[in-house]
Amino acid sequence: MKTVVIVGAGMGGLSTAARLAQSGCEVTVFEARPQIGGRLGELRRDGYRFDTGPTLLMMLEPLERLFGDLHRRVEDYLDLALIDPSYRVYFGDGTVFDSTPNIARMTREIARKISPDEVPGYLRLMGDLSAMYHAVVPAFVRKQYRGLGDLFTPYQVGLLLRHRLLSNLWKRVAGYVRDPRLQMLFSFQTMYLGLSPKDALWVYGVLTYMESGEGVWYPRGGMHRLPEAIARVAQEEGARIYLNHRVQEVLIEGDRAVGVRLQSGEVLKADVVVVNVDAPTAYRELLPPTTYAKRNFKNSCSALMFYIGYTEPLPHQLHHNVYFSRDFEANLRELFEEQRVPSDPSFYTCLSNRTDPTDAPAGCENLYVLVPAPNLTGEDARAAAPRVLETVIARVGLKRECMRFVETLTPHEWQAMGLWQGAAFGIAHTFFQSTAFRPSVQTPFGNCYLVGASTQPGNGIPMTLISAELVAERIMGKRERKG
Ligand SMILES: Cc1cc2nc3c(=O)[nH]c(=O)nc-3n(C[C@H](O)[C@H](O)[C@H](O)COP(=O)(O)OP(=O)(O)OC[C@H]3O[C@@H](n4cnc5c(N)ncnc54)[C@H](O)[C@@H]3O)c2cc1C
Repeated sequence: MKTVVIVGAGMGGLSTAARLAQSGCEVTVFEARPQIGGRLGELRRDGYRFDTGPTLLMMLEPLERLFGDLHRRVEDYLDLALIDPSYRVYFGDGTVFDSTPNIARMTREIARKISPDEVPGYLRLMGDLSAMYHAVVPAFVRKQYRGLGDLFTPYQVGLLLRHRLLSNLWKRVAGYVRDPRLQMLFSFQTMYLGLSPKDALWVYGVLTYMESGEGVWYPRGGMHRLPEAIARVAQEEGARIYLNHRVQEVLIEGDRAVGVRLQSGEVLKADVVVVNVDAPTAYRELLPPTTYAKRNFKNSCSALMFYIGYTEPLPHQLHHNVYFSRDFEANLRELFEEQRVPSDPSFYTCLSNRTDPTDAPAGCENLYVLVPAPNLTGEDARAAAPRVLETVIARVGLKRECMRFVETLTPHEWQAMGLWQGAAFGIAHTFFQSTAFRPSVQTPFGNCYLVGASTQPGNGIPMTLISAELVAERIMGKRERKG
């Protein structure tokens, strides 16, 4: 029986723990904070409940695969609801548009609110994105890269050429739909990765497909139920999870990991160490010096967050809402090129009490606001927070006297959670930080692995679940499905 220590109880750490425990390993998870889930945190105050990080669950397949591999049914642990419409969009020109994965309703909405002439382009775009998604996920995403040779097989090169995966997303979407509002609507999803749609490769259109094609889901009770469910499975399989246990260093002897030292000084020996801490931080702070520790990774942007206890209904808001800047291109330039807090930022709001009424007292709203903002290498978003909040108040039409409290979270707090330079979405998905070029799940040290958003395949809940598949597979040999 292998003994395994996992550093961090984020989605990557917990799902690796569940997989390895089920495969017969003796698994111990050390989490620095008093709560599991990492970025999928939860905040409760004065009768209000907020998810502090992710709010959109897309691409259910890796979650279902995790439970299936562990001989369980997702529905015995989680009550997943399709949120439809996915979200309400407020464009800068005043257009209000409900985006839905239902093709019949989406076609009607485009025809009514934008133009009937745009419908064929939307349908063609969905068709092409769907074909690309179903080819790309097995070929490039759920893929063990042991070297660059694994990236350029004849099959993959064929896909690159056939789907023109390296062309520019922004420009290509404009070839399907002419209206700038639809161009924004079908490309802004790269901002979920902290990436400007203007800089994104066409391959990141898979995000548009995940959302518009497969829909946005929500575990009733809140996003935090996801890590709780996975932790429960891991514990049922025998894994032990310790909160408030910060790991100080991974112990290396020769070129192999042999255990960890906790901040308390305690040492725990193990055959295998899996590190769920954000990769740049792990290489800089937990592992002995290597070239990776010096590598100047390009980081994603960060997120300025407001969690507002609101004492009146906001009837015009849905569960998810997107507010586009009046000048979206200027917004992108300020944020991604000039690294400034945008003067008129786009932002996103979530009212989970639309689906879970107990998330706010009766007649009140739990208003979550996410504003993409520079990471700590750019303008200080903490200093700009009061100004940004004024923009949110004006655009959403909030009344100050109804704002019972406002909790704020800035890139400084994301950094304190271990995210290098406060980059909320980990290292950026540039070409040279994607696929085989992204930090491997295998560190240069034997028996020491990385799992999570800044390793292969990438950021987002589904990707971290796939990252755990890749790690478990490396540790246990070929696919470890047990009968
Ligand atoms: C504001 C925001 C919104 C997002 N929205 C979405 C969304 O809607 N949908 C989506 O799919 N994704 C979203 N994401 C991305 C998603 O949250 C991440 O991709 C995913 O949660 C990353 O999980 P992870 O396994 O890499 O670990 P993390 O969540 O980063 O967890 C790492 C864990 O390691 C712990 N740790 C750090 N250092 C130590 C140490 N020394 N010792 C012990 N423990 C340590 C940390 O406390 C933490 O619990 C969002 C992210 C943010 C920040």
